[in-house]
Amino acid sequence: MILSGLTRRPVTSIAQSMGILAVALGAACARPVQSVSSTSPAASASTVGTGAATDHVIIVSVDGLRPDAITRFKAATIGRLAREGSHSFAAVTINPSKTLPSHTSMLTGEGPEEHGIKWNTNETDTHSHVAVPTVFALARERGLRTAAFFSKGKFNHLEVPGSLDHSQAPEGNGKWSAERTVRDVERYLGSTRPNLTFVHLGEPDYAGHLWGWMSWMYGRAVRTADAAVERLVVAADRAFGAGNYTFIITADHGGHGRTHGSDRAEDVTIPWITWGKGVRAGTALPRGIRTMDTAGTALWLLGVDVPAGWTGLPVRQAFTETARLAADLSRSSGSGTLATTSAGSSGQ
Ligand SMILES: [Zn+2]
Repeated sequence: MILSGLTRRPVTSIAQSMGILAVALGAACARPVQSVSSTSPAASASTVGTGAATDHVIIVSVDGLRPDAITRFKAATIGRLAREGSHSFAAVTINPSKTLPSHTSMLTGEGPEEHGIKWNTNETDTHSHVAVPTVFALARERGLRTAAFFSKGKFNHLEVPGSLDHSQAPEGNGKWSAERTVRDVERYLGSTRPNLTFVHLGEPDYAGHLWGWMSWMYGRAVRTADAAVERLVVAADRAFGAGNYTFIITADHGGHGRTHGSDRAEDVTIPWITWGKGVRAGTALPRGIRTMDTAGTALWLLGVDVPAGWTGLPVRQAFTETARLAADLSRSSGSGTLATTSAGSSGQ
């Protein structure tokens, strides 16, 4: 790809001069700006069973995806998964509604006061990794396999040593395209069967900052992310078998104008969709789902206990009776947790 020489330039300058497609192509060719850690993928081709509601959870976070953009811009796959699965288009993220603090809440089950990450740039040099346990650390402690595909460098804060069988992110404050990230996921799932996989797609956020949320170019970026989700479904079908895995598709924040970060509705309202094994088909979920509940739901589905007092709770009513029972029973000491009403049904 002739654009590879441009890949070290800031993503905004590439996009401004060549359009967002060039971002995709340029970033896809980025070679030196990456951190990849992986432990013997060849040894992990077989499946670790969880004995819970599902053996495989894939969390997909579409950066900056407003729920109303799914219909407006005809995101066909995300729309289909929402209709076929359980969904809320009125879930909420934290304030500040920014990528790093929001994703930290999504993946630690705690609010910013608890996890402490309120900044939104890569400050691993001064602040190191997040201090509270991530979903990856908790799952791996239970012997489950974990993988994370981050498209922004600031996720380095969540790459806690020993918590991920595979992890990749750009260096510094770099950004990768969905094309590049999804290709790596496809390759990885070709030989490995993680129990918990996280995939971050950046395009709607990149376009929102350049051209504005809900602009034509933003819509195009939403469809790029949607096509990436479609490829992830195909890859998961191939890796785990159709019907043998559970997706959670959500976002870290929305946006308005060319920004986000406030507590206004356009910024904090996010989609929350789950589809696949154990999911109650065609369910519209009530208000009250928070981004921390993504962590609570993923671990509950996999039968992993969470620390006492965790903020994130499983969105129980998104799942079938059978799946709920399996998830509840497989928790080793979760009787106190089991009695807790999920965020969705309690209307928090
Ligand atoms: Zn942003």
